[in-house]
Amino acid sequence: MSTDDSLGRVAEQVRGCTRCRLAATRTNAVPGQGDPRAPLVLVGEAPGRAEDQTGQPFQGMAGRFLDTQLALLDLTREQVFISSVNKCRPPRNRTPRPDEVAACASYLDRQLALIRPRVVLAMGGTAAARLHPERTTAMAKVGELRGQVYPLGPEQALVVTYHPAAAMRFPSQRDPFAADLQRAAVLAGLLPQPFSGGR
Ligand code: SF4
Repeated sequence: MSTDDSLGRVAEQVRGCTRCRLAATRTNAVPGQGDPRAPLVLVGEAPGRAEDQTGQPFQGMAGRFLDTQLALLDLTREQVFISSVNKCRPPRNRTPRPDEVAACASYLDRQLALIRPRVVLAMGGTAAARLHPERTTAMAKVGELRGQVYPLGPEQALVVTYHPAAAMRFPSQRDPFAADLQRAAVLAGLLPQPFSGGR
């Protein structure tokens, strides 16, 4: 990261990026959105159709679900920063391939280095695999990783949860998702009360 790096510069470079094959099929790259000093960064997998059309993260049904879950905690997306592992939509929303994840890695790394959040919430297996300190699998098993807090760096923690689209679709993932989001927000200092959900 150069000394004059900025989130705006990252976004500008993402919008013009052709480092991987996803550039050929995107409508808009989606760099991310939110508070540049957010104590909590939410990381998803990659843009879907609605995000590709608008250039904004987490639009459509999954975006509304995420907004609702934040609202239940009296939070808004303006209080966090929302980003993703890949910044361009994979065709038919397939999982990003390892070489595409590797090609895009520096953009998320730079965003995290610039924002310096207290907590990063990895949402879904692709984000968990990308951000987990051991990075052992291409698609991490969220059910095995969630419920713990992992050190990411000095005074920075990683929390893992399900992807909002999955939590919206599968009722069994909704309460765990809500609990993980609350835990991450408390750890980040966005919520004053200690987490006491018992999950
Ligand atoms: S997904 Fe990332 S690396 Fe690939 S073209 Fe888009 S911004 Fe560049």
